Amino acid sequence: MHPHIWYPFTQAKTSPQPFKVISASGIWLELEDKRKIMDCISSWWVNIHGHSHPKIAEAIYNQAQKLEQVIFAGFTHEPAEQLAEKLVKKLPQGLNRVFFSDNGSTAVEVGLKMAYQYWVNKNQQRQKFIAFEGAYHGDTFGAMSVGSRSIFSQVFSNMLFEVDFSPYPETYINDSDVEEKEKKVLTILKEKLEKNPQEYAGVIIEPLVQGAGGMRMCRPEFIRKLRKLVNQFDTLLIFDEVMTGFGRTGDWFACIKSQVTPDIICLSKGITGGFLPLSVTICSEKIYDTFYSDDPIKTLYHGHSYTANPLGCAAGLASLELMVENQPKFSSMEAKHLQHFEILRGNSKVEKLRVTGTIAAMDIVNQQESGYLNKVGLVIREKALEKGLLLRPLGNVLYIMAPYCITDGELSKVYQGIDEILKVI
Ligand SMILES: *Cc1c(COP(=O)(O)O)cnc(C)c1O
Repeated sequence: MHPHIWYPFTQAKTSPQPFKVISASGIWLELEDKRKIMDCISSWWVNIHGHSHPKIAEAIYNQAQKLEQVIFAGFTHEPAEQLAEKLVKKLPQGLNRVFFSDNGSTAVEVGLKMAYQYWVNKNQQRQKFIAFEGAYHGDTFGAMSVGSRSIFSQVFSNMLFEVDFSPYPETYINDSDVEEKEKKVLTILKEKLEKNPQEYAGVIIEPLVQGAGGMRMCRPEFIRKLRKLVNQFDTLLIFDEVMTGFGRTGDWFACIKSQVTPDIICLSKGITGGFLPLSVTICSEKIYDTFYSDDPIKTLYHGHSYTANPLGCAAGLASLELMVENQPKFSSMEAKHLQHFEILRGNSKVEKLRVTGTIAAMDIVNQQESGYLNKVGLVIREKALEKGLLLRPLGNVLYIMAPYCITDGELSKVYQGIDEILKVI
């Protein structure tokens, strides 16, 4: 470990030395020792078009020579305005007002604040959110509070605000219980909302796929029923699409794939194609209207030093253009994963095969308890690296989330690698 760096999510005492990356291009990372590693997880799920894409690099370079950064209160700039307009055009109708911040956690914090203050601005006190078991919404305190309570947040549990949790109707290929599970979850939610309809500021969910919680997937049907229920009890629906946004689910956004319009949506990871930290929280006019007032207390008092950084916005615009070009790639990836699943189906070491768009996942069967601390993940990580693959299972959940530029041959290599690894674990 470097003597002066404190690495994220890393226990320095027990973790192996980090690999030094000197360059990266497309799906490949090049290490200091000249080894090439295939990035099968788009680093931390951000490099949707692969690494160092020249079009995004050029957009940043051009923007840097014009305007690198400017205060975003009392001043505005073209890249932010254009990006806001283009995002609104791509999202379901009604999501209209774009608030910029710089990572997924803050996008969620802003979403929670918008929802909470929406009710305050309407002279109602609604103290609670409903969230889902297995959820991950980030590492700041609000985001931790609505996240599933886990080893990540355990130390801070006394500092977190109270949230009502509902099960998430996770499903997989050949799951015969899915409708039953969804019904159960909807009943639980309905009971909560019915019992105290004035209590809830909103419901927050990772639509279609829960990311860090273990790539747990649910059906669009459930998301549609959830929307109906939330409408029925007149509260707000927040979609955390920090991970599912920008093509990951096979469509531009999970909300589009589900044909559901949330009241608030949070986007980050893929937004700049993995070049720069940026995020947005986008809400409906109905919410924005309650903040629009002569009364200063109704203002959303939130912002960050680098809010709407012009370089990030320029990268975002270039990445959106690549999204249009890459649409055939991300929309056809689900079928490709399914083809490769054919070989894994009979393998007794894996279960719960599942895929949503560009995200494919499976549980590794072993004696240890399922979850983040299951050590098989570390073993797979090491074996994969020996084969030149960057895979980083979440405990016993092995997943592939490649950049959209992965070729059919490269994807076959990933599955071949997984097949070989499964033989030796
Ligand atoms: C990664 C993630 C976050 C947090 O984003 P950061 O940029 O790491 O703060 C929030 N929600 C979801 C669904 C995520 O996957």
